[in-house]
Amino acid sequence: MEICYDCHLHSDFSGDCDVPAEVMIQKAVSLGLKGICFTEHLDLDAPGDPDFFLLDTEEYFQSLRDLQARWAGKLEIRIGVELGIQPHVTETLTEYAASHPFDFIIGSQHYADGGDPYYPAYFEGRSERECYERFFQVEYENLRRFDSFDTLGHMDYVVRYGPNQNKYYSYEEYREYLDPLLVLLIEKGKCLEVNTGGFRHGLGEPNPCIGILKRYRELGGEQITIGSDAHTPEYLAYEFHKTTALLRELGYRFYCVFQNRKPEQLPL
Ligand SMILES: [Zn+2]
Ligand SMILES: [Zn+2]
Repeated sequence: MEICYDCHLHSDFSGDCDVPAEVMIQKAVSLGLKGICFTEHLDLDAPGDPDFFLLDTEEYFQSLRDLQARWAGKLEIRIGVELGIQPHVTETLTEYAASHPFDFIIGSQHYADGGDPYYPAYFEGRSERECYERFFQVEYENLRRFDSFDTLGHMDYVVRYGPNQNKYYSYEEYREYLDPLLVLLIEKGKCLEVNTGGFRHGLGEPNPCIGILKRYRELGGEQITIGSDAHTPEYLAYEFHKTTALLRELGYRFYCVFQNRKPEQLPL
């Protein structure tokens, strides 16, 4: 079956997106999707501007509840959040996650050691390899400390912004940093996200890379979620056709969609 839920997308409730939620909904309906889950950013203490990725959670729920009612019968709309994990905010995030009735929580690492790979300065004065390794080390620490999420978002996010992106990067090259992450994720019973934003960023593959998706399966991992990470309607469900074929080829038979933080498995 073709993927029919997009479980990672943003609207103007996120600091870096100015598209109204209803525009994303209209696009999802026109694509024939069965459902979508909004996953707005909440990054506490974001380097540079600590207020940029805050979320007006009450208003978000109110407005999404209205949209759910208005589009009932036409599109399943779920309410999620993408929590930006950093070691010093995990306790606050845990309390936050417990105090709101989200359907789905993506745990994502956007920063390491207070640096933001989105900006070239992150890569200055260190080799690309050091930057990637350090990002994965911090991600492992984050994952050890934090449990209040359902899926690990774009695990190799840093590669999107490296000077050479994935040219010299592969699972094999970084396996000593990547394997512990995958093993811990499986031990914790969390999902691994397949984020098709990697295609949009010119990687020719999702985040995480195909080598990681292959390895996760080898290690016995099979719980995945799928999302486009769209910030504009044209990237909703981006490359889902290609991704369906890829995942089947790698031996995945289903993906998870969440409601009230409970997974439902849908066939691939
Ligand atoms: Zn993200
Ligand atoms: Zn996102």
